[in-house]
Amino acid sequence: MKQSELFLKVQKDFPKDEVAENARLLIRGGYVEKLMAGVYSFLPLGLRVRENVMRVIREEMNALGGNEILLPALHPKSVWEKSGRWKTLEPVMYQFKDHAGKEVGLGATHEEVIANLACGKIESYADLPKALYQIQTKFRDEPRAKSGLLRGREFTMKDLYSFHADEESLNEFYERAKEAYFNVFSRCGLTALLTEASGGDFSKEYSHEFQVESPVGEDRIMVCRKCRIAQNAEVAKETCPKCGGKTEEANAIEVGNIFKLGTRFSEPAGLFFKDASGAQKPVIMASYGIGVERLIGATVEVHHDLMGIVWPEEIAPFRAHLLSVGKKSAGLQKFGEEVYSKLTSGGVETLYDDRDAPPGEKLFEADFIGIPWRVIVSEKTLKEGKVEVKKRSEEKAELMNIEEFIKKFKVSS
Ligand code: ATP
Ligand code: MG
Repeated sequence: MKQSELFLKVQKDFPKDEVAENARLLIRGGYVEKLMAGVYSFLPLGLRVRENVMRVIREEMNALGGNEILLPALHPKSVWEKSGRWKTLEPVMYQFKDHAGKEVGLGATHEEVIANLACGKIESYADLPKALYQIQTKFRDEPRAKSGLLRGREFTMKDLYSFHADEESLNEFYERAKEAYFNVFSRCGLTALLTEASGGDFSKEYSHEFQVESPVGEDRIMVCRKCRIAQNAEVAKETCPKCGGKTEEANAIEVGNIFKLGTRFSEPAGLFFKDASGAQKPVIMASYGIGVERLIGATVEVHHDLMGIVWPEEIAPFRAHLLSVGKKSAGLQKFGEEVYSKLTSGGVETLYDDRDAPPGEKLFEADFIGIPWRVIVSEKTLKEGKVEVKKRSEEKAELMNIEEFIKKFKVSS
């Protein structure tokens, strides 16, 4: 895409009303804009990152056997009353009356709605196991929405729900879901620690959180450096549960959480199946969440430097940022167009800064936006018929011809 056609304005200054580094960088870089505390608009560059994250998540959920669906955000009170959570989730749930006086709520999560949906569709052991997921907007009236994209009041969650006839099937799927989660996070450039946490009111067993270490994280975890696992400080014993060794306290961002729900939601919803002997049993469920914007925020917290954001390859808004630097002669203009078309036809998603702007401004903005590969054409590189290539994460720039770069790009990505 040509930058002259892109709806993008990199701001001269950081926003004054944001304290969270992720939001400061994403707002100034023209990725998102704040509408109010915990509510953000996504601009073209931000939307591309979000789409990439969702693509990674979809690929991993589909590989796990997940069926994608889409549930509504607006729910009748009746669905929530059966589980008792209309009352218990009241502090975080947006609940109100419509003009007809009917009580409705905005979904903070979807266990109730999905258990109701499965009734009549999962009826026999032959219908099990099944896994359904969605990537959908959640609403939570978060009291402290000061962490930028890490804590939204309106945010996107991938929520997967699995349905099983017995514990064995549940455990088998749960372990595979853990692997899928690790794949998602590592593809997004994050190292997540599997963390034992409270099972909430669902289960006496632990749930598992995926925690990314960061000084701005709101969670406190106890990490065993040897086993690379952790326990949330809320449930931690003194020592590592695996090796018995010493643990270390750290701040962390919870990017995912998976729960064994048992029959906590199936029973009140009336979700039963017939087993092989014809007996009626409640379906066993589990739920698995990832916050899309929280993941983006965590990535920015981990991957930035003094110059701006440094995107991991798979979720970057573009793979290469081509800059035409210096006075625009007819020759340089033609060369820039040529290089751009070679990059595009060579399969390198490229943002081409074709604007008439001072070199310093172009270079500053390119670093700030943080696209992984910077490719410069200038009068100097034109003379040699080459381009200057630099990785955002590295210091050294190299002159090469464009075909060499495309080859190098393909090998490294
Ligand atoms: P927290 O303890 O941080 O409030 P939670 O434990 O209530 O989060 P879950 O209900 O487990 O969150 O939701 C699943 C996932 O959704 C979380 O692991 C996180 O990635 C994401 N998430 C939860 N709340 C938010 C939020 N307010 N903004 C953005 N993402 C969120
Ligand atoms: Mg959680």
